[in-house]
Amino acid sequence: MNSGAQLSAQRRQYDKVCPSCSHAFQGVKIAKYCSNRCRQKAKYNRSKAHNPIVRELALSKELGLSSPYDWSNINIDADTFILRVLEGGNIKDIARTANHFGLERVGRSIPNIADTLTLKIAQRQYNNVCQVVNGS
Ligand SMILES: [Zn+2]
Repeated sequence: MNSGAQLSAQRRQYDKVCPSCSHAFQGVKIAKYCSNRCRQKAKYNRSKAHNPIVRELALSKELGLSSPYDWSNINIDADTFILRVLEGGNIKDIARTANHFGLERVGRSIPNIADTLTLKIAQRQYNNVCQVVNGS
């Protein structure tokens, strides 16, 4: 018959640190974030669509590619980077990019190439890379 005490125990405030903004706050036992805003922010950061990469070295340099595909923006998103490498048609660059991102992911970008001839070249070079990787 002490439901009031139980209720107040459930409402007891604990000292917590918000994993999103690192601020200390007081919250109920199950509270994780200091605010709804921080909870949303954490959810957004976990989502696939938003995957920020902050690089200090351009990926084309890191992978030792022949051209600076990401010269305009070193924080270019992966799919745009892959597309530019494919459009470049350089087999070594495609191979290195496939080694970094995975053959499958690079292959999935091929249909996104707008120009038909460029697409054909990229497809051929990609097939050659696959053959080398698969050892046939
Ligand atoms: Zn917070």
